[in-house]
Amino acid sequence: MARAKALVVPPAVNVVMLGPPGAGKGTQAERLALRNGLPKISTGDILRRAVQAGTALGGSARQAIDSGNLVSDDAVICIVRERLRCEDARTGFVLDGFPRTVVQAMALDSLVSECGPLVVLDIVVPEDVLVRRLASRRICSECGTNASVDARTGCMKCGGALVTRTDDGAGVVRERLTVYQRQTKPLVDYYAGRPTFRSIDGHQAPDAVTAAIDAAIVEAGALQGGRL
Ligand code: AMP
Repeated sequence: MARAKALVVPPAVNVVMLGPPGAGKGTQAERLALRNGLPKISTGDILRRAVQAGTALGGSARQAIDSGNLVSDDAVICIVRERLRCEDARTGFVLDGFPRTVVQAMALDSLVSECGPLVVLDIVVPEDVLVRRLASRRICSECGTNASVDARTGCMKCGGALVTRTDDGAGVVRERLTVYQRQTKPLVDYYAGRPTFRSIDGHQAPDAVTAAIDAAIVEAGALQGGRL
Protein backbone atom coordinates (compact mmCIF):
# COMPACT_ATOMS: atom_id res chain seq x y z
CA MET A 1 0.00 0.00 0.00
CA ALA A 2 1.32 3.44 -0.93
CA ARG A 3 2.33 5.55 2.04
CA ALA A 4 0.44 8.83 2.56
CA LYS A 5 2.56 11.84 1.63
CA ALA A 6 3.57 14.02 4.56
CA LEU A 7 1.76 17.34 4.61
CA VAL A 8 4.03 20.33 4.11
CA VAL A 9 2.70 23.01 6.39
CA PRO A 10 4.21 26.42 5.57
CA PRO A 11 5.82 28.01 8.61
CA ALA A 12 4.18 31.12 10.00
CA VAL A 13 5.76 34.40 8.95
CA ASN A 14 5.76 36.69 11.95
CA VAL A 15 7.27 40.08 11.25
CA VAL A 16 7.82 43.02 13.61
CA MET A 17 8.64 46.41 12.10
CA LEU A 18 10.70 48.54 14.47
CA GLY A 19 11.85 52.09 13.85
CA PRO A 20 11.11 55.69 14.76
CA PRO A 21 8.05 57.65 13.62
CA GLY A 22 8.47 58.51 9.93
CA ALA A 23 10.85 55.61 9.19
CA GLY A 24 8.35 54.14 6.72
CA LYS A 25 7.18 51.23 8.87
CA GLY A 26 3.54 51.65 7.87
CA THR A 27 4.20 51.81 4.13
CA GLN A 28 6.59 48.87 4.17
CA ALA A 29 4.37 46.80 6.49
CA GLU A 30 1.45 47.38 4.12
CA ARG A 31 3.50 46.26 1.10
CA LEU A 32 4.87 43.18 2.85
CA ALA A 33 1.43 42.17 4.11
CA LEU A 34 -0.25 42.66 0.72
CA ARG A 35 2.38 40.73 -1.20
CA ASN A 36 2.08 37.76 1.12
CA GLY A 37 -1.57 37.70 2.09
CA LEU A 38 -0.81 38.46 5.71
CA PRO A 39 -2.67 40.87 7.97
CA LYS A 40 -0.91 44.13 8.74
CA ILE A 41 -1.59 44.88 12.37
CA SER A 42 -0.96 48.52 13.23
CA THR A 43 -1.73 49.52 16.80
CA GLY A 44 -1.65 53.19 15.71
CA ASP A 45 -4.36 52.54 13.07
CA ILE A 46 -6.48 50.60 15.56
CA LEU A 47 -6.17 53.37 18.15
CA ARG A 48 -6.93 56.14 15.63
CA ARG A 49 -10.05 54.26 14.49
CA ALA A 50 -11.13 53.93 18.13
CA VAL A 51 -10.66 57.69 18.63
CA GLN A 52 -12.67 58.41 15.46
CA ALA A 53 -15.44 56.03 16.52
CA GLY A 54 -15.60 57.58 19.99
CA THR A 55 -15.23 54.25 21.83
CA ALA A 56 -14.06 53.97 25.44
CA LEU A 57 -10.62 52.87 24.21
CA GLY A 58 -10.48 55.88 21.88
CA GLY A 59 -11.47 58.23 24.69
CA SER A 60 -8.68 57.01 26.94
CA ALA A 61 -6.07 56.91 24.12
CA ARG A 62 -6.76 60.32 22.60
CA GLN A 63 -4.76 62.44 25.00
CA ALA A 64 -1.68 60.21 24.81
CA ILE A 65 -1.79 60.18 21.00
CA ASP A 66 -2.33 63.94 20.64
CA SER A 67 0.51 64.74 23.03
CA GLY A 68 2.96 62.31 21.39
CA ASN A 69 3.06 59.93 24.34
CA LEU A 70 2.39 56.22 24.50
CA VAL A 71 -0.92 54.62 25.33
CA SER A 72 -0.71 52.26 28.33
CA ASP A 73 1.04 48.92 27.86
CA ASP A 74 -2.02 47.11 29.22
CA ALA A 75 -4.34 48.63 26.62
CA VAL A 76 -2.15 47.91 23.59
CA ILE A 77 -1.18 44.42 24.76
CA CYS A 78 -4.88 43.65 25.11
CA ILE A 79 -5.54 44.97 21.54
CA VAL A 80 -2.75 42.83 20.08
CA ARG A 81 -3.69 39.73 22.06
CA GLU A 82 -7.24 39.89 20.68
CA ARG A 83 -6.10 40.66 17.14
CA LEU A 84 -3.59 37.80 17.03
CA ARG A 85 -6.39 35.39 17.95
CA CYS A 86 -8.18 36.14 14.67
CA GLU A 87 -8.17 33.44 12.02
CA ASP A 88 -6.26 35.54 9.47
CA ALA A 89 -3.23 35.78 11.78
CA ARG A 90 -2.76 32.02 12.00
CA THR A 91 -0.21 31.84 9.20
CA GLY A 92 1.58 34.98 10.27
CA PHE A 93 1.30 38.74 10.55
CA VAL A 94 3.15 42.00 10.07
CA LEU A 95 3.17 44.11 13.22
CA ASP A 96 3.56 47.85 12.70
CA GLY A 97 4.08 50.05 15.77
CA PHE A 98 4.00 47.22 18.30
CA PRO A 99 5.91 46.52 20.47
CA ARG A 100 7.05 49.98 21.58
CA THR A 101 8.30 49.15 25.07
CA VAL A 102 10.24 46.27 26.58
CA VAL A 103 7.12 45.29 28.56
CA GLN A 104 5.19 44.99 25.27
CA ALA A 105 8.04 43.00 23.66
CA MET A 106 8.04 40.53 26.54
CA ALA A 107 4.26 40.18 26.28
CA LEU A 108 4.56 39.57 22.53
CA ASP A 109 7.17 36.86 23.08
CA SER A 110 4.78 34.97 25.31
CA LEU A 111 1.83 35.53 22.94
CA VAL A 112 3.70 34.03 19.98
CA SER A 113 5.79 31.44 21.79
CA GLU A 114 4.21 28.63 19.78
CA CYS A 115 3.94 30.42 16.42
CA GLY A 116 7.52 30.27 15.12
CA PRO A 117 10.24 32.90 15.34
CA LEU A 118 9.70 36.64 15.07
CA VAL A 119 11.56 38.32 12.23
CA VAL A 120 12.43 41.76 13.63
CA LEU A 121 13.28 44.50 11.14
CA ASP A 122 14.67 47.75 12.51
CA ILE A 123 14.25 50.50 9.92
CA VAL A 124 16.98 53.09 10.42
CA VAL A 125 16.63 56.70 9.19
CA PRO A 126 18.57 59.84 10.29
CA GLU A 127 16.58 62.13 12.59
CA ASP A 128 16.67 65.22 10.32
CA VAL A 129 15.12 63.14 7.52
CA LEU A 130 12.40 61.88 9.87
CA VAL A 131 11.46 65.43 10.86
CA ARG A 132 11.20 66.48 7.20
CA ARG A 133 9.16 63.43 6.25
CA LEU A 134 6.70 63.85 9.12
CA ALA A 135 6.18 67.54 8.30
CA SER A 136 4.94 66.62 4.81
CA ARG A 137 3.11 63.38 5.61
CA ARG A 138 -0.58 63.04 4.77
CA ILE A 139 -2.94 60.18 5.57
CA CYS A 140 -6.39 59.27 4.32
CA SER A 141 -9.13 60.57 6.63
CA GLU A 142 -11.26 57.53 5.76
CA CYS A 143 -9.02 54.44 5.74
CA GLY A 144 -5.83 55.78 7.36
CA THR A 145 -3.52 54.77 4.51
CA ASN A 146 -0.35 56.84 4.16
CA ALA A 147 -0.39 58.98 1.02
CA SER A 148 2.67 59.25 -1.17
CA VAL A 149 4.55 62.50 -0.62
CA ASP A 150 3.56 63.89 -4.01
CA ALA A 151 -0.12 62.90 -3.81
CA ARG A 152 -2.25 65.90 -4.66
CA THR A 153 -5.71 64.37 -4.93
CA GLY A 154 -7.49 61.81 -2.76
CA CYS A 155 -6.45 58.49 -1.28
CA MET A 156 -5.20 55.99 -3.89
CA LYS A 157 -7.04 53.19 -2.08
CA CYS A 158 -10.50 54.58 -1.31
CA GLY A 159 -10.61 58.15 -2.68
CA GLY A 160 -10.94 59.65 0.83
CA ALA A 161 -9.63 63.14 1.61
CA LEU A 162 -5.97 63.42 2.64
CA VAL A 163 -5.26 65.11 5.94
CA THR A 164 -2.33 65.81 8.27
CA ARG A 165 -2.25 63.53 11.32
CA THR A 166 -3.09 65.35 14.56
CA ASP A 167 0.24 64.17 15.99
CA ASP A 168 2.41 65.23 13.02
CA GLY A 169 2.64 68.90 14.11
CA ALA A 170 6.20 70.12 14.86
CA GLY A 171 5.91 70.17 18.70
CA VAL A 172 4.28 66.75 18.95
CA VAL A 173 6.77 65.24 16.49
CA ARG A 174 9.64 66.34 18.76
CA GLU A 175 7.92 64.68 21.72
CA ARG A 176 7.31 61.47 19.72
CA LEU A 177 10.99 61.29 18.74
CA THR A 178 12.02 61.79 22.38
CA VAL A 179 9.58 59.10 23.51
CA TYR A 180 10.98 56.81 20.80
CA GLN A 181 14.56 57.31 22.02
CA ARG A 182 13.59 56.74 25.64
CA GLN A 183 11.07 53.91 25.42
CA THR A 184 11.30 52.18 22.05
CA LYS A 185 14.99 52.33 21.05
CA PRO A 186 15.90 49.96 23.93
CA LEU A 187 14.03 47.30 21.95
CA VAL A 188 16.95 47.20 19.52
CA ASP A 189 19.10 45.84 22.34
CA TYR A 190 16.27 43.55 23.42
CA TYR A 191 16.15 41.91 19.97
CA ALA A 192 19.66 42.46 18.55
CA GLY A 193 21.08 39.14 19.74
CA ARG A 194 18.47 37.09 17.90
CA PRO A 195 19.41 35.44 14.60
CA THR A 196 16.20 36.78 13.06
CA PHE A 197 16.96 40.46 13.82
CA ARG A 198 17.98 42.68 10.89
CA SER A 199 18.73 46.41 10.47
CA ILE A 200 17.37 47.98 7.30
CA ASP A 201 18.59 51.25 5.75
CA GLY A 202 15.35 53.22 5.52
CA HIS A 203 16.98 56.30 3.96
CA GLN A 204 16.57 55.18 0.36
CA ALA A 205 13.77 55.03 -2.21
CA PRO A 206 10.72 53.04 -0.97
CA ASP A 207 11.23 50.29 -3.59
CA ALA A 208 14.85 49.86 -2.49
CA VAL A 209 13.72 49.57 1.14
CA THR A 210 11.16 46.94 0.07
CA ALA A 211 13.87 44.96 -1.71
CA ALA A 212 16.15 45.20 1.33
CA ILE A 213 13.32 43.94 3.55
CA ASP A 214 12.64 40.96 1.28
CA ALA A 215 16.33 40.06 1.23
CA ALA A 216 16.57 40.43 5.00
CA ILE A 217 13.60 38.17 5.59
CA VAL A 218 15.00 35.45 3.36
CA GLU A 219 18.43 35.85 4.94
CA ALA A 220 16.99 35.69 8.43
CA GLY A 221 16.25 32.11 7.53
CA ALA A 222 12.76 32.30 8.94
CA LEU A 223 11.10 31.32 5.73
CA GLN A 224 11.00 27.98 4.10
CA GLY A 225 9.13 26.94 1.01
CA GLY A 226 9.65 30.23 -0.85
CA ARG A 227 6.58 32.00 0.46
CA LEU A 228 8.25 35.40 0.51
P1 AMP B 1 1.74 55.22 15.04
O1 AMP B 1 0.64 55.34 14.03
O2 AMP B 1 2.31 53.86 15.14
O3 AMP B 1 2.78 56.29 14.88
O4 AMP B 1 1.06 55.48 16.47
C1 AMP B 1 0.41 56.71 16.78
C2 AMP B 1 0.26 56.85 18.27
O5 AMP B 1 -0.55 55.77 18.78
C3 AMP B 1 1.55 56.76 19.07
O6 AMP B 1 2.26 58.00 19.12
C4 AMP B 1 1.02 56.35 20.45
O7 AMP B 1 0.41 57.41 21.12
C5 AMP B 1 -0.08 55.36 20.06
N1 AMP B 1 0.46 53.99 19.93
C6 AMP B 1 0.53 53.24 18.79
N2 AMP B 1 1.07 52.05 19.04
C7 AMP B 1 1.39 52.03 20.35
C8 AMP B 1 2.01 51.09 21.20
N3 AMP B 1 2.44 49.89 20.75
N4 AMP B 1 2.16 51.41 22.51
C9 AMP B 1 1.71 52.58 23.00
N5 AMP B 1 1.14 53.54 22.24
C10 AMP B 1 0.98 53.27 20.92
